[in-house]
Parts: sequence; structure tokens; C-alpha cells
Amino acid sequence: MTLEKFSRLHFAHLPTPLEPLTRLSKALKGPEIWIKRDDCTGLSSGGNKTRKLEFLMAEAQTQGAEVIITAGALQSNHARQTAAAAARCGLKCLLILENGLQSKNPLYLQNDNVLLDRLFNAKIQEVTAGTDMDAALSEAVADFAKNGVKAYSIPIGGSNPIGALGYVDCAQELSSQAQSMDLTFDALVMGTGSAGTQAGLVAGFKQTGLNLPVHGMCVSALRHDQEEKVRKLTVETLELIGVDAHLNDDDIKANSDYVGEGYAIPAASTLEAIRMTAETEGLLLDPVYTGKAMAGLIDYARKGLFRKSDNVVFLHTGGSAALFAYENSF
Ligand SMILES: *Cc1c(COP(=O)(O)O)cnc(C)c1O
Repeated sequence: MTLEKFSRLHFAHLPTPLEPLTRLSKALKGPEIWIKRDDCTGLSSGGNKTRKLEFLMAEAQTQGAEVIITAGALQSNHARQTAAAAARCGLKCLLILENGLQSKNPLYLQNDNVLLDRLFNAKIQEVTAGTDMDAALSEAVADFAKNGVKAYSIPIGGSNPIGALGYVDCAQELSSQAQSMDLTFDALVMGTGSAGTQAGLVAGFKQTGLNLPVHGMCVSALRHDQEEKVRKLTVETLELIGVDAHLNDDDIKANSDYVGEGYAIPAASTLEAIRMTAETEGLLLDPVYTGKAMAGLIDYARKGLFRKSDNVVFLHTGGSAALFAYENSF
């Protein structure tokens, strides 16, 4: 469709499966829960950033970049997938990471995504918590330029309009899967952080004309701030793909009730959601994003906010590579 005019590399395993979560649906006594397995995008144990990186890395190559730079939390899934994509493209990678939790847990500091970043031969530059990451990225690009090296900078979470194209594409993919399975979805539930995933999906559903409510469960931000962030990026993404659609107020929904104490700190409801999904489905969620998103879905189901017969799709955005650093939480 309209995405053909954008350059793109292909390293994700697509389409990702769309499967029923029969036992979880039954345990909650409805709705009918489906899962879109973007934890199975393939690259470096999967996750949602891989779809964004197909477009971002293509732009980096077009610009003749030799180094890819991005930023995030120490255990960033985005950083890990970027490091893998850079390796895949034969490019160098610099990760600017902060230990926002000020964790001293050696597993958090060295294992999981950090271990994988190192395996992909990315260089890690650790900065103090609270550093202005956008400024740090620009500075790093300028430093490379001084030495005649062209660097391409990817914002936190790969969340700009180019990255969001990955989820415009996912919206199209999901629509055609639903069609071929003769399914009508009533809602989609997902975790929302740097906003590119939700913005891309909302823009993509606008484009395909699918009127599917997207419930973004916040992983750190307050509801209002998150909705503003998603709205701004959705508008920019619609502009980029050339879709002249009107955004209504309730097209952008975020909920911060399941964040708990803050980013990357699992709440009791997060742990319950991870356990329940593991025990009923043999499926792994993660303590930072999908555990909080599923906690939201479970609570909505218990509160009767969905009808029993509704088909609700949960977007699994990945992240379970970070589970092992949270051994103490279980
Ligand atoms: C980054 C990430 C998200 C959030 O996606 P955004 O596009 O940043 O909002 C959700 N789940 C996982 C596992 C992630 O790594």
C-alpha cells in the first residue's frame, strides 16, 4: 500500500502469528483474548523495535551511515534490537544507556539485554541517570562527524515517524490476518512507552479504515502526558504517509493505572499478570512492558469493561529477555 514509497530492509519474521489465548480467556471468564506475537519478530529474541528498525536502518543506509547510535535504559530492548540490526547490516553501533533505577543488582547491570548488546559488539557508553538523552545523541553524532565519520541517530525507542511506519505496517498486517480468519476485533491492548508503536497502529488503523479502539497501557508516564505524546506522533505519522484523517479525542487512549511505582519497577499486578499468563498459556511476558499491559487487560476484563463475547487482541511487544534480571521479584 502507501508504504511502498519508503525504503525498507527486511529482517523481521513477518507476519507474526495471531493466536487465541483460550485458557487465559477462560480463566478470566471472557472476553475472547487473542495475541499478536510481535515477541516473535525474530531478530535477537524478538520484540516490537524490529519492525521500526526495518525502516530506520534503511534510512541509515541511504544516508551512508557507518555508525548507528541510539539511547535508552540500561536494559533497553530497543537498544538490544538496534545492536543486532546494526550487526546484521555490518554497521558499528554505539548505545548511550542510563541506569535510571540506580540498580546495583549485578544481573541488571551485566546480564540479559546488556549481555546481548555486548555479543552484538555494540559499544556501551553509560551516562548518569537523568541525562538529556536527545542532547547526548546529538553530541555523539557531532563527535563522530569531527572525525569524518557519518553517524545515524535513532531516538529512544525508535519513536519518530519513520520508525512508526513499522506499526502502520503491523496495522495492515493485523487487518488482513483478521479478515482471512474471519475475525472482527473489538479492541486492542498494548504497552505504550516512547509512543511509536501506538502512534503507528492508530495511524495504520485510520488508513485501513478499521475502527479498532487501541488501549495503551502506560509503562511510566502519566495518562495525559502519554496521550499528548502519542497524539503528536500519530499526527506526524499520518502526515508522512499522506493520509488526511481526522483524529478524534478518543482515538488516543492511555491508562497509567498499572504503572505502579515507576518505569521498570513491576507492581504486584504486573507479577500476577506474568504468572497467570505463564501458568495458563506457557507464554512469557516481561516485567517492564507487557506485564503491565496484561495487568491492564486482566483488570478491564474483571471490571467488565469488555463484553464476554468481545474479541480483544493483546499486542505482545517482546521484552522477556529482561525477565532473568528480575529473579528476586518472583
Ligand atoms: C519499547 C517497548 C514497548 C513500548 O513501545 P513504544 O513504541 O516505545 O511505546 C513495549 N514493549 C516492549 C517489550 C518494548 O521493548
